[in-house]
Amino acid sequence: MLEFWRETIIDSRIYQLNFLTLLFSSIETIHLISPFFAGKKVHVDALRLDKLHPIVSGNKWFKLKYYLREAQQTGAETIATFGGAYSNHIVATAFAAKELGFSSLGIVRGERPGILSPTLENALSFGMQLHFVSRENYRDKKKIMAGFLGKYWINEGGFGAPGARGIGDIFEKIELDKYSHIITAAGTGTTMAGIIGKAHPAQTVLGISVMKNNFDLKAQMSSLLSPGDRTKKFEILHRFHFGGYAKKTPELLGFMNEIYSELALPLDFVYTAKAFYALISMVKDGTIPKGSNILFVHTGGLQGNLSLPENSLCY
Ligand SMILES: *Cc1c(COP(=O)(O)O)cnc(C)c1O
Repeated sequence: MLEFWRETIIDSRIYQLNFLTLLFSSIETIHLISPFFAGKKVHVDALRLDKLHPIVSGNKWFKLKYYLREAQQTGAETIATFGGAYSNHIVATAFAAKELGFSSLGIVRGERPGILSPTLENALSFGMQLHFVSRENYRDKKKIMAGFLGKYWINEGGFGAPGARGIGDIFEKIELDKYSHIITAAGTGTTMAGIIGKAHPAQTVLGISVMKNNFDLKAQMSSLLSPGDRTKKFEILHRFHFGGYAKKTPELLGFMNEIYSELALPLDFVYTAKAFYALISMVKDGTIPKGSNILFVHTGGLQGNLSLPENSLCY
């Protein structure tokens, strides 16, 4: 991980090198202790990617890594990408671009609202230029790209093989072998694909789809896998979306408060709360059996909770 920055960052960016080194050194895995897990005879660890940075947390850094390297190598000046008003990818791209001395452009789905979301405010504060397009026009990404020449484009959500490869690098530092199950939230499936790439055949990788009925996800995610990886054990679960992308219920918010009180684990309502809820449900009903050793990949995204009404959460 660190090598990448070392080999690609020029002298004037030494400060940023140090800064990013600091970020990447703070990855940690914690053991979650609870009477519930003990009673079910499962061991659960959480990989705290949320601890990397208060705003640009989680998987997005890693997904961006190889894209940014290519952008540097090709001499690009501006990084451009797509996302919605609450896109963690947009804000991560804005921040990473700034740190590495690129300009950035965010194509945002939907008309410009009167009040910008905290996510978009953050992106603006990192110097990203925002360009709003109607939901209808947003679908034709090729046409949008044709209107902005000379940019280095990254897919919405960082979807793609370079993104999955960057995720795989996380596991260079983490001992993955001891786990029977690895669980992650899935949006584009890039993170899940990166994990599958590093998993061994006896392990099961579970992706919790945060969108409603996004049944294309399996094919989309699988397209990032090598033929060998496609034969590994993995599954995408579609029953934990709580109404759809960025939708929530009082039950979900109550669950988040409960988990924070009991395990001191902060979750975000868009991704990680749904994935952790799935973990608990599957342990409860025995889908994840007694004796399992589970790694929950906390993909970050906590700043997304800023869009919740005040006092929804106890953290
Ligand atoms: C973007 C995001 C995801 C989804 O990652 P994919 O690689 O697109 O599946 C999961 N969790 C958090 C917190 C995210 O911000």
